[in-house]
Amino acid sequence: MMATILDGKALSQKLQDSLKKEVARLKGEAGGVPHLVNVMIGKEPSACAYANSQKRVAEYIGISYDLETLPANITQKDLVAFVKKLDADASVHGVMLHKPVPAHIDYRAVGNQIDPSKDMEGVNVANIGKMILGDTKIIPCTPAAVMEHIHSTGVLLRGKEAVIVGHSEIVGKPLSMLLLAEYATVTVCHIATSEAGKLTEHIGWADVLIVAVGKPALVKGDWIKEGAVVIDVGINRVGDRIVGDVEFESAKRRASFITPVPGGVGPVTVVMLMRNGIEAFKLQKRIGF
Ligand code: NAD
Repeated sequence: MMATILDGKALSQKLQDSLKKEVARLKGEAGGVPHLVNVMIGKEPSACAYANSQKRVAEYIGISYDLETLPANITQKDLVAFVKKLDADASVHGVMLHKPVPAHIDYRAVGNQIDPSKDMEGVNVANIGKMILGDTKIIPCTPAAVMEHIHSTGVLLRGKEAVIVGHSEIVGKPLSMLLLAEYATVTVCHIATSEAGKLTEHIGWADVLIVAVGKPALVKGDWIKEGAVVIDVGINRVGDRIVGDVEFESAKRRASFITPVPGGVGPVTVVMLMRNGIEAFKLQKRIGF
């Protein structure tokens, strides 16, 4: 079997086109467009590259997007005050805190200060709680991008074995809830699964496998069940190349669908951020509720 490669750029374009139409419709209905603010601390080159791609996508969709760069030595107190100012500003509909933040900043504490209705990354505990209950459309961006890729295959999750490798707060944990909401049977593996020597066995069960670890070629192609859908979230720099967590060449001969790295999950993640911004705007304007 030779897998169909899931083209993240094409999926991203399709989703951008549909959001562009939605923004045009909202403009008529609400008399304005979402205004999103990305708060960045310091100027790290890879963070700047991601912010540039956010700006490009926002402009294409027709959303207003501002980048606020704060000094690298800003205190937690001043940062919270800055976020609170954005919360109180009715012209701002979405707020995000760009990662990584410097070590002296408590990311989670600041994320919890973002008004839940403006929290475009879905990091506020109120939104995480609502997501578990299936009560919000503001979903963490990377898990949302994974779900879009799975949906694009046409494979139904109901009753399927979905195995996630990686249980981080930004990817694995929220993703497990989204898969469960579609009635997949969900297994979440992590470092202790490997330590117990059980990773290969769990992966072998997967009809749908999602890997989000950050270790190049951790998952070998021959561990994968014939016909599985494989979504590789990992981003690893090896020399001058970027590779995922799955051994792509061998996995592609077993899977039915597989995402490449780069060009798989990444390009869709940024669109999910914009979709959250649009949902935040609708929430504040009471459109569709
Ligand atoms: P993390 O470091 O927070 O978590 C890593 C997870 O992998 C943990 O659950 C850990 O227990 C598990 N793990 C570590 N070693 C393991 C092993 N040998 N076997 C099994 N599990 C193991 O990572 P994260 O922030 O979730 O990111 C994971 C990867 O996804 C990174 O490569 C990151 O760059 C990438 N990422 C990509 C996107 C995107 O949009 N494409 C977004 C976020 C993260």
